[in-house]
Amino acid sequence: MATSLNLDAAPARPTPPADTRVLEKTPLERYVAPEKPSLIGLSRAALGEALAGIGVPPAQVKMRVQQLWHWIYLRGAQEFDQMTSVSKELRAILAQHFTLARPEVVAEQVSVDGTRKWLLRLPSEHPGERPHEVECVYIPEVDRGTLCLSSQVGCTLNCSFCHTGTQRLVRNLMPGEIVGQIMVARDRLGEWPGAERARHDGLPTQGDRLVTNIVMMGMGEPLYNFEAVRDAIGVAADGDGLSISKRRITLSTSGVVPMIPRAGAEIGSMLAVSLHATRDDLRNELVPLNRKYPIAELMQACRDYPGLSNARRITFEYVMLKGVNDSPADAKALVKLLKGIPAKINLIPFNPWPGTKYECSDWEQIEKFSEVVFNAGYASPVRTPRGRDILAACGQLKSTTEKLSARERLALRAMAMTD
Ligand code: SAH
Ligand code: SF4
Repeated sequence: MATSLNLDAAPARPTPPADTRVLEKTPLERYVAPEKPSLIGLSRAALGEALAGIGVPPAQVKMRVQQLWHWIYLRGAQEFDQMTSVSKELRAILAQHFTLARPEVVAEQVSVDGTRKWLLRLPSEHPGERPHEVECVYIPEVDRGTLCLSSQVGCTLNCSFCHTGTQRLVRNLMPGEIVGQIMVARDRLGEWPGAERARHDGLPTQGDRLVTNIVMMGMGEPLYNFEAVRDAIGVAADGDGLSISKRRITLSTSGVVPMIPRAGAEIGSMLAVSLHATRDDLRNELVPLNRKYPIAELMQACRDYPGLSNARRITFEYVMLKGVNDSPADAKALVKLLKGIPAKINLIPFNPWPGTKYECSDWEQIEKFSEVVFNAGYASPVRTPRGRDILAACGQLKSTTEKLSARERLALRAMAMTD
């Protein structure tokens, strides 16, 4: 019979071993709000609700929001009493209920090249336990100053070349903790009207601003903390406040495909994709999330990202791992894969960390790779690591959260990157 199956005749096929490598880990700590919350990072709507909640009459809310917004984001006020256009009475009520606190700065390091790194302390869910720490890096260039922000403490994903992925503990940052990193940078750089400006030869000299660009390339996967990142970018881009245009804000994702359309629709920043490999078998290993969202799906999401043009391209990040993904054939495959997508390519020299099995590609190899990429029409592809002397370069950012629980597992982080 044509429909019968002759099982005996079926070729013996070995069952592939189940893939047991961890794609993502789950421990997500909760954020526990302090008794007096900070107003930093609230959207205009949330700020309005907060004001209504302390008895500001509905007819006044909009005007009060505008006043507070001005003092917080244009003037950098750290105390309500500085807000001289707000009545004394309201200032006192505000101070009873809220603060303008930023994340606590535990340490500041300034590199010889002007790169600055701040170690910031954030509260943990359990009051008795050590607080969390994240780092925020400022990379000045002549014509711009780029701030690299974290979106999570640690990361639930496990990219095999990234030290943040080895960090056990993960907590999503609140919008105020993300915007708070910008506030800290502007506080420390003296970038508020009337403040004393930081002095350093390496600071931008063109234009009058010090923080001009933002990259969400610090700790964490921003699309796994979508709402907070969206709201924080909304505050950063507000034209009556910090006014950092969305064209100067880049969100880097390891490829959370279903969230990419939402990022396009609701955030509207520039997009960077951590590609690192052009074949699924290799990318599965480097970026295990690829097993859930393979390259073809990722590329389609990129093609569909709104507003792409030659002036508005997606950045593809590609970490150079010796003998793994760095051959000229890999470069050709990369160029082929990106065909038709308005793209920039950033080759990132791998920054090793203790215990990693990877090595950074030899410089010669990086040059050969970049030549193929260059010949295909992509400019300036290699990112120069910055702030090496203060360990702020890619993959070297260190949070002491993990160091405290497992000393040898330094939580090093990928950051210092310029657009
Ligand atoms: N989670 C997001 C954003 C943070 S990581 C993402 O993965 O895109 C920022 C960039 O640093 C990513 O491209 C990441 O792959 C890269 N990176 C991580 N560890 C690195 C290391 N040790 N050396 C060089 N780049 C690294
Ligand atoms: Fe997380 Fe990005 Fe590191 Fe991957 S590379 S583990 S997504 S921070």
